[in-house]
Amino acid sequence: MNNFVVKKRLSKLTMYNKKQKDQHSTPDHRTELSELGEFALIDRLTKRVKIKNPGTLKGIGDDAAVIELKDKVLLLSTDLLIEGVHFDLTYMPLKHLGYKAAVVNFSDIAAMNGIPKQITVSIAVSNRFSVEALEELYGGILLACEKYKVDLVGGDTSSSVKGLMISITVTGEAVKNEIIYRNGAKEGDLLCVTGDLGAAYIGLLILEREKQAYKADPDMQPELIDYEYVLQRQLKPEARTDVYNLLKGIGVQPTSMIDISDGLASEILHICKESGVGCKLYEEKIPIDTQVRNLAMEFRIVPAVCALSGGEDYELLFTINQRDVEKIRLVQGISIIGHIVPKSEGQKLITPDGLSIDLTAQGWDAMRKRVS
Ligand code: ADP
Ligand code: MG
Repeated sequence: MNNFVVKKRLSKLTMYNKKQKDQHSTPDHRTELSELGEFALIDRLTKRVKIKNPGTLKGIGDDAAVIELKDKVLLLSTDLLIEGVHFDLTYMPLKHLGYKAAVVNFSDIAAMNGIPKQITVSIAVSNRFSVEALEELYGGILLACEKYKVDLVGGDTSSSVKGLMISITVTGEAVKNEIIYRNGAKEGDLLCVTGDLGAAYIGLLILEREKQAYKADPDMQPELIDYEYVLQRQLKPEARTDVYNLLKGIGVQPTSMIDISDGLASEILHICKESGVGCKLYEEKIPIDTQVRNLAMEFRIVPAVCALSGGEDYELLFTINQRDVEKIRLVQGISIIGHIVPKSEGQKLITPDGLSIDLTAQGWDAMRKRVS
């Protein structure tokens, strides 16, 4: 697993810089998509697929997959990624892209308190991509499936005039009365978050900075070795599917939950809107890694802003009833960052010096002034 983290990424970035046209084929071989045709391509991309879940009765190879549910309910979610809009292949190796595209779907299922089980993968590709390039993409997707015990059960393959598009649909299993929606937060509940936030955004800033430096001087070698944690959070995020068992183990059923894909502020506002409540979020309680804090200051950003508006951390944000506070306090890796108040009190961020600001874009301007 670890062998395709930052060091390999570094060599890929370097390789790409030197050999732009050939970036995704091995040095001595590039198979054109036209040499294979659609059906042979599907075979080649999916030949390593092995079904892991007993509930997957039929995977790839028929007109539809067949899934058995027994006494559970089915969760269903989908995601569409467009080259140039959602990802930039200049610094996103295809294997990482595949991994991330799968994992962000698993994260949506985790946010419902379910377990991801199957995915379908639909791709549209231009002839700029070789067969080997698509094998890299599927290598990442299948690695994620392996790690999260998810079956790849189908998809669709098409050509595109320009660029790469990937759409992944995921199914998940849940026990009906364990599902957690965004709309269950109640006055007095505590706001909690898993892990630490803001690292994926700092990772993106580092990659953007290196891309600009490369544009200015194509001979430059990227200096990324010091940034392993933040780059990994950006290029190879993980879904918190472990939180289901963690919370079950301590007997806590959150009242609402969402995954953090767009930034903490936006996700808190979703919970507040859906639940019809307000909140107080304490800036100093937001969990931020030391490396993220230091790099944020280097970029002249208040560290909390990386967490609040950065996004792509794929941690879980949830609310719990106050009676569960002691159980949550005993768990490492979960932080209590605020609480739910009546809707009439609004959605507020409390700064370390006690200032109460609205959780809106306006607030970030106020915070930015602190570092200039
Ligand atoms: P259909 O003509 O019914 O759409 P296809 O020939 O497109 O069938 O697909 C054949 C089988 O391969 C189906 O089971 C389909 O789900 C699967 N499949 C097609 N494209 C992909 C892909 N990109 N990734 C994974 N499975 C795929
Ligand atoms: Mg098809």
